Amino acid sequence: MIQSTSGDEAFVLLSNGNVVKVSTGELLPANPDILEGVDDLIQLSYLNEPSVLNNIQYRYSRDMIYSKAGPVLIAVNPFKAVPIYGNKFITAYRQKVMDSPHVYAIADTAYNEMMGDGVNQSIIISGESGAGKTETAKFAMQYLAALGGGSEGIEYEILQTNHILEAFGNAKTSRNDNSSRFGKLIEIHFSAFGKICGAKIQTFLLEKSRVVQLAAGERSYHIFYQLCAGAPSFLKERLNLKVANDYNYLNQSECLTIDGVDDAQNFHNLMEALDIVLIRKEDREQTFAMLAAVLWLGNISFQVIDNENHVEVIADEAVTTAAMLMGCSSDELMLALSTHKIQAGKDSIAKKLTLQQAIDSRDALAKFIYGSLFDWIVEQINKSLEVGKQCTGRSINILDIYGFESFKKNSFEQFCINYANERLQQHFNRHLFKLEQEEYELDGVDWTRVEFEDNEECLNLIEKKPLGVLSLLDEESNFPKATDLTFANKLKQHLGSNSCFKGERGRAFSIRHYAGEVPYDTNGFLEKNRDPLQTDIIQLLSSCTCQVLQLFASKMLKPSPKPAASSQPGALDTQKQSVGTKFKGQLFKLMHQLENTRPHFIRCIKPNSKQLPGIYEEDLVLQQFRCCGVLEIVRISRSGYPTRMRHQEFAGRYGVLLSEKQLSQDPLSISVAVLQQFNVLPEMYQVGYTKLYLRSGQLAALEDRRKQV
Ligand code: ATP
Ligand code: MG
Repeated sequence: MIQSTSGDEAFVLLSNGNVVKVSTGELLPANPDILEGVDDLIQLSYLNEPSVLNNIQYRYSRDMIYSKAGPVLIAVNPFKAVPIYGNKFITAYRQKVMDSPHVYAIADTAYNEMMGDGVNQSIIISGESGAGKTETAKFAMQYLAALGGGSEGIEYEILQTNHILEAFGNAKTSRNDNSSRFGKLIEIHFSAFGKICGAKIQTFLLEKSRVVQLAAGERSYHIFYQLCAGAPSFLKERLNLKVANDYNYLNQSECLTIDGVDDAQNFHNLMEALDIVLIRKEDREQTFAMLAAVLWLGNISFQVIDNENHVEVIADEAVTTAAMLMGCSSDELMLALSTHKIQAGKDSIAKKLTLQQAIDSRDALAKFIYGSLFDWIVEQINKSLEVGKQCTGRSINILDIYGFESFKKNSFEQFCINYANERLQQHFNRHLFKLEQEEYELDGVDWTRVEFEDNEECLNLIEKKPLGVLSLLDEESNFPKATDLTFANKLKQHLGSNSCFKGERGRAFSIRHYAGEVPYDTNGFLEKNRDPLQTDIIQLLSSCTCQVLQLFASKMLKPSPKPAASSQPGALDTQKQSVGTKFKGQLFKLMHQLENTRPHFIRCIKPNSKQLPGIYEEDLVLQQFRCCGVLEIVRISRSGYPTRMRHQEFAGRYGVLLSEKQLSQDPLSISVAVLQQFNVLPEMYQVGYTKLYLRSGQLAALEDRRKQV
């Protein structure tokens, strides 16, 4: 409420009782009281950032965590149990007794549209770490399982996969105690009768570096701690398993437990889930052996043997146990970790590695085993949930993927994540815009196209061949002498003309993403893109008696369909696609899959960075609104007619402004009469068959008049 103004300064009374001085140029109109806490932001008469923030806060403080922004569901993480889930609510949404915004309502619409129109659906969930994507995805799955549950109980199996994926793919980070370190798409398939008949899981870009390196206060993947804490004694003995604190890969961050989480109990839950999802006993045993092998690899150490920093492996319990678990001899393992075979004519010479090279090679092996194990487990789950014959091809896809990231320092991981988000944003824009247009057209409203920003330029910057970030990255990765600095220079040399690119000093560059500008440091880009594994190590793995290791190695040796052009030593292994290119391929496939479905978007919002209930940090929320395009939706709507009211409703509310005589007419005529009576300019509204469409701000003016009557 403005208290007074003088010159270009105004004194404003805030809702908390404080008075602040602001410049009048910064003032934005507030919405009339009747619009307080509306469940769809589109209903707001004034669509400015403060109004949107305020509306969501109003609802959040009343535990109304879900809101709509037009077709998009906004979910604000409550960080506490809110009593709006479970069978009672599922039934209420199923029977349409409840219609307030909810993830159940989204799942219900998706299901009905799939069954009714025979069109496959997707529920696309995004948001930053800790915003509640994975929980939201689980609630959507829960709803679909309740609807599509049949006699075979496969829906129960599908719900159990969450335990398995979270054990192997989630970890405690500084931002979320249960952070997913991979992207996930789950396709749930239905029979002609609408019963669940199978499912398929796809995963994207697991963060492998976490296996060997941890930031302070963070943990590695939950499964390691669960195994150490919960394995029965016979298993501990077989794997020579110690407590988590005895492993270098786990103890380096000085964070071994999570408040309120019982790792041992979770191990038992995991075992149950593995039982239900029918993971075979021998597969389970191999899995645990590989996990223990990774932990023991981390304890392998080296000693320098000459003044050129060359090393040998120290023959201790770590090597013998790792070798035993992998099914090779300690000598073979020690040799593979400390030397590199070079072909010299017919002979091969073993060249000793330096300390850093040996450490890198050991860590690369651990990452490779874990990454392959993760993929393999997903494969086993998919076998068990196999989409059966009774499936008709009807499906609902649920995508739980990392949101846009912008930190002080951003590396290759952020680059990939933000690239994925650019792709999703493009999908989102196209769809949203189409929907908007369709609604106007269906209701007979003349609507000249509203321009909207697309992000083609940014996608070009990243994807274009041969001069795009990914292509240039591959080119440099293939060149043994290249460094992160030469890569950065190459980018600056070739991409300067793209308006989304900004060269920075040294190894840095920036990209203007749809959600804001992000500075990247190329440090580590080449290495992460190559993700190398020495041939010596691959050969060792193929000779191991452990079957899964042989399998993992064979995948590395299989020729890829398109071998890279160069085969220089130290360059990208010709058998292997770079990480960036592989990710791009996965994304294209994903987008193609999503294009063929009707999308439903859910944007999760993290209200505070403390993971605590009841705290709403405005800046943090605003920044997410900007990043996840909530304001973009609002912007598109603002350029059209954001206020929509059915004629009956409008006539009922504002008919009082007319004389008796005019009231005998039908609702549509009354609406038009009201507009004319109050000189609402023709460009400020459109009359549809069923609804009245008003430009922003018009309703507030009418509301003022109504109050005066
Ligand atoms: P990340 O990108 O790190 O994986 P995320 O967006 O998947 O993050 P979640 O793991 O789903 O975030 O949520 C973080 C935590 O927030 C959950 O562990 C849970 O405690 C809480 N939470 C999220 N959504 C809800 C909800 N609807 N009700 C209650 N608690 C929730
Ligand atoms: Mg998650």
